[in-house]
Amino acid sequence: MTDIIQLLPDNLANQIAAGEVIQRPASAVKELLENAVDAEATEIKLIVSDSGKSLLQVIDNGRGMSETDARMCFERHATSKIKNIEDLFHVRTMGFRGEALASIAAVAQVEIKTRRAEDELGTCIEIENSVVLKQEVCACNVGTNISMKNLFFSVPARRNFLKSNAAELRHIVEEFIRVSLAFPQIFFSFSSNGQEVFHLEAGNVKHRIIQILGNQYTAKLVSVKEETDYLNIYGFVGKPDTARKTRGEQYLFVNNRFIKSAYLNHAVMAAFESLIAKDSFPLYVLFIDLDPSQVDINVHPTKQEIKFEDEKIVYAFVQAAIKHALAQFSISPSLDFTLNPEIQQLEAVNKPFTGEKKEAATGSNLYKTFTQKHQAHFIEPDEKSELKHWKEFFTGSSGQAETGAEQLSVTSKQEENTKGSTQLQTTNYKPQTDSTFFQLRNTYIVATIEDGFLLIHQQLAHERILYERYTAAANGKQIPAQQSLFPVTLELAVADAALLEDLLPDLQVLGYTIGHFGKDTYVIQGTPADVLHGNEKHSVELLLEQFKHFSSDMKFSKRERLLRCMARQQAIKPGQALTQKEMQTLAEELFQCNTPNAAPNGNPAYLEFKEDYLERMFGK
Ligand code: ADP
Ligand code: MG
Repeated sequence: MTDIIQLLPDNLANQIAAGEVIQRPASAVKELLENAVDAEATEIKLIVSDSGKSLLQVIDNGRGMSETDARMCFERHATSKIKNIEDLFHVRTMGFRGEALASIAAVAQVEIKTRRAEDELGTCIEIENSVVLKQEVCACNVGTNISMKNLFFSVPARRNFLKSNAAELRHIVEEFIRVSLAFPQIFFSFSSNGQEVFHLEAGNVKHRIIQILGNQYTAKLVSVKEETDYLNIYGFVGKPDTARKTRGEQYLFVNNRFIKSAYLNHAVMAAFESLIAKDSFPLYVLFIDLDPSQVDINVHPTKQEIKFEDEKIVYAFVQAAIKHALAQFSISPSLDFTLNPEIQQLEAVNKPFTGEKKEAATGSNLYKTFTQKHQAHFIEPDEKSELKHWKEFFTGSSGQAETGAEQLSVTSKQEENTKGSTQLQTTNYKPQTDSTFFQLRNTYIVATIEDGFLLIHQQLAHERILYERYTAAANGKQIPAQQSLFPVTLELAVADAALLEDLLPDLQVLGYTIGHFGKDTYVIQGTPADVLHGNEKHSVELLLEQFKHFSSDMKFSKRERLLRCMARQQAIKPGQALTQKEMQTLAEELFQCNTPNAAPNGNPAYLEFKEDYLERMFGK
């Protein structure tokens, strides 16, 4: 038998290893930006074309490299950052594995120009497939200018694996934000396809957060700062009212390295408990600094996970620090009037509320009508009180109990519905033009049917209707659309703009007419007919929010997610009063659906109460 094991050729080994470090253009962005930071640059520019697929370039004014180093840096495990195992526990630089440049050179066409301040001339190297094509002396600025072209040109399988330009750009933006948030003292710029997307002047953390996330946060950030011998924490959390339905703006850095930690995220959330809705996420940009020997960043090649020597201490500390910051902010809620200087000027706010004034106020007619009305609402059922109508929907039913009809209990119906079985036939819904509908708590619609009544959940039912309508539209059926009365412009954060760009073709099919209007600005010219005038902008913003929220749900395609988000978003909400006509239309449209009994998420859209069931409940 012959031996069969061989060593892989270097460039193949490099390509395989590269896969771990460089998964997509954004991974290269992270590595190159971090190298520039490690080289102590004060200005770093990122330039990409085609979302990094054709060009990805980072220019820094850092330390530069000698001629030999410029050649060496592309070798695997070539690093200037650690020398022995001891060093590994004291790493203060972002990189230390010496793998990034070797990986990049294995999967792209790379050109580097670099010069140290003490050298008159720099070095220029071209390398491709890990093979040096050219090395020469050249004139160039101090610092390093590295560009990689045609990422994965030699690994078509990986190239094909890349997502749409918009999706890849989103990843790049995200990496850029992570690095630039961590180093606000460095100037960063980012250009994509010849347009400058970010221009971040050096400043402090708060300044940087606002530059990146938007001016609207200026008055919305609470400073967190606690120092101990063991660790320091600083940064900002958003005031509770900035909490969003999506886990968007949450950044945690340990020794300036962006990390993902469900555990520490939980610590932050716990500190916010009871201040924000359960399903919402607070903004935070937090930096934890501690002795590098207390953390192990060597867990994963892309280094987003981290192990702490004593995780529990860090958890408790993070939570306490944020609670402290939030408490300071909320013990004096009135100080929050600083948000609006005009309000603060008002006499009523400025002057203390004296006993005299109080008497005058409670004596006023306004006060009286207000309090009386309030009482009336609770004490005497007025003409339109809900109770009055209870009789009507019993008398509305014909009273012919269907013998042998399925004996339906609410719970069993629910179970069937969530399983998705279609109970359409068993629900004998006949639109009766003369029957009255009754709205309960502005949330449920009571509709009489021949042998009982239905309790329709207005939002879930409407979601079902819209979902089927949008699905039909996605399959080519024309959808009613409307022109906006006034085209509305929409300015988006860069990441959101990239997302919207990605969704535009689908949105078009679904009735939105949205045009690009320079940089990250869009114009909404038309919307599906369900969108209320004046609500165009909000509807798109909300859609993006929900889509992001949903985007972890990988079992659905992008289009399916969009359909579901749109249906959810456009559905009438609990709390909205409906007219007879609206309730009737809703009920009718629901029962024209293919699956009227459940909302897209599987929850029942209505419950059915049959007369025989009711009678049994009443012991008859
Ligand atoms: P690591 O960052 O883990 O050391 P890299 O492959 O990213 O590994 O880089 C290899 C080495 O090349 C670095 O240790 C550093 O000495 C040098 N280097 C890389 N990028 C730059 C840069 N922008 N400026 C100066 N030196 C650089
Ligand atoms: Mg590096």
